[in-house]
Amino acid sequence: MIRQKSFENEKPTLFLVPTPIGNLSEMTPRAIDVLKSVDVIACEDTRTSGQLLKHFDIHSRLIAYQNFNEEASAHGIINLLMQGQNVALISDAGYPLINDPGQKVVTEATAKGFNVVPLSGCNAMLNGLVASGLIAQPFIFVGFLPQGSGDRKRKLGEYKNYPMTLVFYEAPHRIEKMMKSLLEVFGDRRCCIARELTKVHEEFLRGTVSELIPELDGLKGEMVVIVEGNTDDYSKDVDSDLILEMLRESQALGMTASDAVKDIAKKTGIPKNTIYRIVHQCNN
Ligand code: SAM
Repeated sequence: MIRQKSFENEKPTLFLVPTPIGNLSEMTPRAIDVLKSVDVIACEDTRTSGQLLKHFDIHSRLIAYQNFNEEASAHGIINLLMQGQNVALISDAGYPLINDPGQKVVTEATAKGFNVVPLSGCNAMLNGLVASGLIAQPFIFVGFLPQGSGDRKRKLGEYKNYPMTLVFYEAPHRIEKMMKSLLEVFGDRRCCIARELTKVHEEFLRGTVSELIPELDGLKGEMVVIVEGNTDDYSKDVDSDLILEMLRESQALGMTASDAVKDIAKKTGIPKNTIYRIVHQCNN
């Protein structure tokens, strides 16, 4: 057990600092203060972040934290913390770690007992979700889907039965293929594409997936896709044999029936009540 009282110790700190996803006025005063105060700022791309730091007159030492070599970069940052330096992690835009580098260093820094302190701020997923008009919670953040058609559809298949709202990131040159895969695997659900958030060309396309597809030609910019969860009555679609098999396996591993049901619900997205109903029907 490691307990972190963020501001009541002298340990070096790794700050997780979000940066604007478009509108520079969303840079918070606290983010500027922290970035000015730390010994080192670790970023994805020194040219991109250099411009941001110049705009806010921030002169702390800037180093690159590279996604393709995250392990080595994480060690480098941990070494800085071990030397007593305070480090801020930023990404090109939004939150570090959210479809951006940072997971390894945060995992290591927390395991080693350094302070890891997050700042509040910009993130495309949350902006898109709350303005989508779809149910905002519970939700699942998926991020980018695989690029290959087969892998993309397989991944969507894993989420097909989830009753919660799903949030995806997508690039403009892949949005049409992605939406067609959504239609094929999920059916024609309600959906929202939130584009160019916080920028002058911010736009929301709200409708069903089939209504949005004809509007995609030439659609540019950064995009978040928010899709309604599965609203079907599961009991008619669910593979009862599979559920019972999963239940038997979990119980063979020593789980109680109620823990097994919770675990299956988590893995499949099928509501617990539906699983209980299947189990009772099969036992009677
Ligand atoms: N770390 C970022 C965050 O916290 O949102 C996400 C970085 S990820 C590499 C980039 C993707 O985020 C884009 O392809 C797009 O899907 C989404 N995104 C970033 N900025 C956006 C914006 N202003 N409007 C809509 N989507 C955006």
